[in-house]
Amino acid sequence: MTADSPRTRAAPVLVPMPAERAYSYAVPDGMQVVPGSIVRVPLGPREVAGIVWDGPVEAVDPKKLRPIAHVFDCPPVNDEMRRLVDWIAHYTLSPPGMVARMILRAPEAFDPEPWTEGLKRSDGEPDRMTAARARVLEMANDGIAWTRSGLAHAAGVSSTVIDGLRAQGVFETVMIPPRPVVAPPDTSYTSAELTNDQEATAASLRAQVEADKFAVTLIDGVTGSGKTEVYFEAVAAALDKGKQVLILLPEIALTQAFLERFQNRFGTKPAEWHSDLPPRMRERVWRQVAEGGVRVVAGARSALFLPFNNLGLIVVDEEHDPAYKQEDRVFYNARDMAVVRGHIGGFPVVLASATPSVESRVNAEQGKYARSVLSARFAEAALPQLATVDMRRSPPARGGFLSPVLLGKMRETLGRQEQSLLFLNRRGYAPLTLCRVCGHRFGCPVCSAWLVEHRFRGQLVCHHCGHNEKRPEACPECGTFDHLVACGPGVERIAEEVVSHFPDARTIVLSSDMLGGVKRLRLELEAIANGEADIVIGTQLVAKGHNFPNMTLVGVVDADLGLANGDPRAAERTYQLLSQVTGRAGRTGKKSLGLLQTFQPDHPVMRAIVSGDSEAFYDREIAERERSALPPYGRLAGIIVSAATRPEAESHARGLRRAAQVAQDVHVLGPAEAPLALIGGRHRFRLLVQADRKADIQGYIRALLAAGPKLRGSVRVQVDIDPQSF
Ligand code: ADP
Ligand code: ZN
Repeated sequence: MTADSPRTRAAPVLVPMPAERAYSYAVPDGMQVVPGSIVRVPLGPREVAGIVWDGPVEAVDPKKLRPIAHVFDCPPVNDEMRRLVDWIAHYTLSPPGMVARMILRAPEAFDPEPWTEGLKRSDGEPDRMTAARARVLEMANDGIAWTRSGLAHAAGVSSTVIDGLRAQGVFETVMIPPRPVVAPPDTSYTSAELTNDQEATAASLRAQVEADKFAVTLIDGVTGSGKTEVYFEAVAAALDKGKQVLILLPEIALTQAFLERFQNRFGTKPAEWHSDLPPRMRERVWRQVAEGGVRVVAGARSALFLPFNNLGLIVVDEEHDPAYKQEDRVFYNARDMAVVRGHIGGFPVVLASATPSVESRVNAEQGKYARSVLSARFAEAALPQLATVDMRRSPPARGGFLSPVLLGKMRETLGRQEQSLLFLNRRGYAPLTLCRVCGHRFGCPVCSAWLVEHRFRGQLVCHHCGHNEKRPEACPECGTFDHLVACGPGVERIAEEVVSHFPDARTIVLSSDMLGGVKRLRLELEAIANGEADIVIGTQLVAKGHNFPNMTLVGVVDADLGLANGDPRAAERTYQLLSQVTGRAGRTGKKSLGLLQTFQPDHPVMRAIVSGDSEAFYDREIAERERSALPPYGRLAGIIVSAATRPEAESHARGLRRAAQVAQDVHVLGPAEAPLALIGGRHRFRLLVQADRKADIQGYIRALLAAGPKLRGSVRVQVDIDPQSF
């Protein structure tokens, strides 16, 4: 911030808009701002919250600048966070204003939470005693400050009784500060007796926290090997140093069990941060993180943008999880940005996974990350026995999807009064509905996707844009009644098949589109853990982190499902998902089994899972990436061009392609139709930019976008650095 003239001070302010840089504002006399101050500034006809940024103000006549309207009474966004915003903006080619916007997510919290008026017992005595008054005084004699309504409620009297006592000077008025969202964690509340392997990893993490320097450790350990237990030791060490800690989890809203684990170790829950948090709670968590009262946050990827002022450790649990990638406005991977955050802040970052991403494995091999391997499940908990079911040899009955082998094991499991889980990563009843007479298929009117039948709701639904329509009685094409058939299975259809085989079993379907949302899901998960279901049929969300002690059989209905698309990451993703799902079984030492129904039992993914030999699988995947110069051996970015009409999108994409400079270390491929060519009525084409590891891919793309055709009409361009699918 510089003063342009002795009389008018000015400051750059980054506003939460697609702004490429901070705008300059005048600082009125007497107003105090520093870089990081959260302010309110005029922007066009309105006022918005923004952050005072670094660097010089633009060379404009300071007299023409509009003044900053207000400075919030809030700790400034620190230097580390501002550098992170600049870094992410540069790396993802996003306007810095849009990155800063992710910090400014709790507008009510920019002002301090007001203190509430309270009452405290004074020396005064009431003129006469009644039964109601006596009850109030008995409650209030503890010397603690009460709110008027709180005291009335506790004493079981009406508030007028309190007012009467107050008028007689029985209470003094005191101000009560905002209540902390969570109690401070107690690092010596309990601690586990670690095994030798666990202790070795914990010791090196503690040393890193102690050294207070940037370092990344990948804890690579099978499900149940104690990764959480081990990183809790690093959390304790950081807390003992007076630091704040951030733990990122992919499905925090559904991992209530994690919060309880944390409580068992530290005597209190961490503060939660995710999109299902009630708005008032969000505001309070944000504020208390900024003020330092919240010491530990367990959050979804957006927690990376909380205004920590004293962060000393980030843990990224399930670091391979695709949920860490945001593909909306700012395209970023929270795992990678957590590493950047640690680098900027100079503190350690811990990545944990039973099935690390190929990227993290390579980083470990190249010595950029330390790798700690935990190879055994803790105590007697055995890994499930795993096997494939060759669907060519054990085909399901006509119209069914469950093989006789799997059904047989389910029957045995029921007989032992243990639980089975059937996993199918497809919501709804059936992925495709067609007319048996004319062959008509039901497609989404605005996406290039088939509609999925949801029989419980009586609807056909598009899983990409949410479009839904009533399932018709007759075919809209040929008008024939009652000839619409469902092709392929979804979880609802599997449930139907299960009920037909096991009518007396208690069956639950779990899927993210279930009515009742997260609350209902939590209840269902709890019910399952308590043994209130015999057979659970679920999509991806049952794969994550839950601990079902009595679950001894996991059946994967269609293990080949994820392998079908031509994506080079398909094998890795399938491996990760199948490992995670089969890891739900046998968490308490009971003998357990995981069965994968597949038409390709010899596929390397199936072999890796069944043999438990992940090393061979990773070696192969890594070699393949290296051979084709795919990440992390090369760099990759997608440029997605979308428009209301196909020709507009295609012609703009072609124009960009023509503008591409020939370079030694960068190649532009395409344009081709994007993996989903039509979403929500917008047609999409994609260029892929493939570059050497050392190439400046951002600089290249920036130049390409500047040289390419001007944006016109409905055309939009989005850059996706490190795309999930390629
Ligand atoms: P992961 O995170 O690798 O899946 P966890 O940390 O959740 O593994 O450990 C699996 C289970 O074993 C948990 O119930 C955990 O409390 C228990 N456990 C792991 N290590 C120990 C230990 N050293 N002492 C006591 N319990 C442990
Ligand atoms: Zn659609």
